[in-house]
Amino acid sequence: MKLIIIGAGVSGLAAAYTINQHAPYIALHCIEKSRGLGGRAATRRREGATFDHGAQFFRTSDSDQLAFLTQTLPHDQLIDITKPVGVFDQYNQISAGDPAQNTAPKLVYRSGMNNLAKLLAPKNLTVSLQTRLHHVVKTATGYDCIDDQNTVIAHGDALLFTPPAPQTIEILQASQLDPAMIAHLCSGLAPAVYRPCLSITMAFDGRLEFPFYALVNSDRQHPFSWIAFEHDKDPSRVPTGQTLVTIQLAPAASTDWWQADEAMLITELMPRLNQLLDSALPSPLWLDRQGWKYALPNGKADQTILETYEQSDGLYFTGDALAGLGRIHLAMEHGMHIAQRIIAQH
Ligand SMILES: Cc1cc2nc3c(=O)[nH]c(=O)nc-3n(C[C@H](O)[C@H](O)[C@H](O)COP(=O)(O)OP(=O)(O)OC[C@H]3O[C@@H](n4cnc5c(N)ncnc54)[C@H](O)[C@@H]3O)c2cc1C
Repeated sequence: MKLIIIGAGVSGLAAAYTINQHAPYIALHCIEKSRGLGGRAATRRREGATFDHGAQFFRTSDSDQLAFLTQTLPHDQLIDITKPVGVFDQYNQISAGDPAQNTAPKLVYRSGMNNLAKLLAPKNLTVSLQTRLHHVVKTATGYDCIDDQNTVIAHGDALLFTPPAPQTIEILQASQLDPAMIAHLCSGLAPAVYRPCLSITMAFDGRLEFPFYALVNSDRQHPFSWIAFEHDKDPSRVPTGQTLVTIQLAPAASTDWWQADEAMLITELMPRLNQLLDSALPSPLWLDRQGWKYALPNGKADQTILETYEQSDGLYFTGDALAGLGRIHLAMEHGMHIAQRIIAQH
């Protein structure tokens, strides 16, 4: 039995980890369109700095999952961001955040969020990076996975789809499968619509010390939904004497400034940032941007529909679309859950 996993984000790699541990007789091949592992648990390095331009940190209230992260997986890089998260409103009024949320550990890897993906990926996992699955073709013996160049990348008995639901819908609609099945599966994925997020990271000369590690917008009336200081995660992340700020723009502002060039972003963002922080940060040393077209799900895919073709056709689905909420721990939990279903059925 060979399973093709589409996507090397946390959910797909959590599934690969579980299958490798409990059913090593299932051969695995992961196809990933980007250059590395992690998906939206993403980390970038630039000019001596390390920053997370997707997920910022993760939490879990599940004691088994916490034990897995802090005992089973290597955990020497796992740290708790102890400084609190504050809130701000449209008038730039800052106040203390939820005390309960602030006392729960805010977990992150010192070397970056994508370290979680590297730890989950089995050492012997075959991964085709920079390979975008365009469509699949049903054959007499399983599925051919075809890339943008119309080349067969892999052949498998079963498929596990992990991308955000709209991207999985695109693949299914281009595939040579039973049209009624495609329509049914797409109707199961459709409720998981995603909102966009433009994430901007800027480095500044001088270290700004702030009472909060991060600030989250509470009234959804501000163009910034989140700002965070990378040096508060761990000093090793930022060159000495510099400040590294990550700003996540709200969905409307993300759309408005999606195409803006660097100069325009600096002109638009700097006065707002200085007003919010009551600071006088100078022009940035550098600016980095990442547009996430499908950042966070607003709705939840229909699990009942998506389970219909598991046993009969070997088609499986996981990812945060199934959780209905963009959270690392939920994507990981669902990846492990679907792996158990695959194991039980093979
Ligand atoms: C800006 C931002 C901030 C966030 N903040 C937090 C946070 O602070 N805490 C938290 O818990 N969560 C946060 N999240 C959400 C969290 O990152 C996601 O819920 C989680 O990473 C989803 O994992 P996944 O495996 O479901 O999907 P993904 O990580 O998206 O993995 C899917 C993979 O499939 C690949 N793929 C897509 N299409 C194809 C194709 N055709 N062929 C091959 N590969 C393909 C993608 O490249 C990707 O690697 C944030 C997300 C974003 C974008």
